[in-house]
Amino acid sequence: MKNDGLLIVLSGFSGSGKGTVMKRLMEKYPGEYALSVSATTRSPREGEREGIEYYFKTQDEFEEMIANDELLEYARYVEHYYGTPKFYVEDKRRSGIHVFLEIEIQGALKIKEKFPDTLLIFLVPPSIPELAGRLRGRGTESEDVVKARLSQARVESGYMDRYDYIVVNDDLEMCVEQVHDIVQVQKFQAKRSTELISRLQHQLDDFLKGENV
Ligand code: 5GP
Repeated sequence: MKNDGLLIVLSGFSGSGKGTVMKRLMEKYPGEYALSVSATTRSPREGEREGIEYYFKTQDEFEEMIANDELLEYARYVEHYYGTPKFYVEDKRRSGIHVFLEIEIQGALKIKEKFPDTLLIFLVPPSIPELAGRLRGRGTESEDVVKARLSQARVESGYMDRYDYIVVNDDLEMCVEQVHDIVQVQKFQAKRSTELISRLQHQLDDFLKGENV
């Protein structure tokens, strides 16, 4: 899989700005990254479009996708199924495009177990007062919902050390650059340089045999 794109998971507390970071990264580096579209059994929110934000499925349709092994991973989250269809991820990666999954922690850890090469990135806000302010600022959430999101964040914080990288989303542009840099630096890992290593070995062998290099 030497020239395949990487599989990258971005998780983060509700309100950490995952969606905004992903949108800006896709805009800034077109053709380099793709964001996988998940399937879910939850109903569309206002403005969400089929095949853009999610593929909206009935419970039966979703369970059929599970039975047919069409999902890379799936999880139940707040009483609904969410899962990553295989076809898109595999197709993009084969063309050398790095694919991001914006998924919650259970799914992220399952993916890492199945595909240990996956890069796990966790996005955090600069502080909890800032996060609470962002959640309230959405205007659509009651104080109870804000509290529920923060207690969910407390649970999720217990898994943050299982991620490879933690990025603080304070300044959006800086955060996007940091995510980009983390991905770019992966290609220098020795285990991803098998082609370069074997080319140099061949050249050394040729040289030592007295052949032209
Ligand atoms: P929401 O309903 O707010 O769009 O998403 C709820 C949670 O499900 C978010 O944390 C989101 O990242 C996660 N999620 C979205 N798609 C998937 C998926 O395909 N698999 C898993 N495991 N989680 C997902």
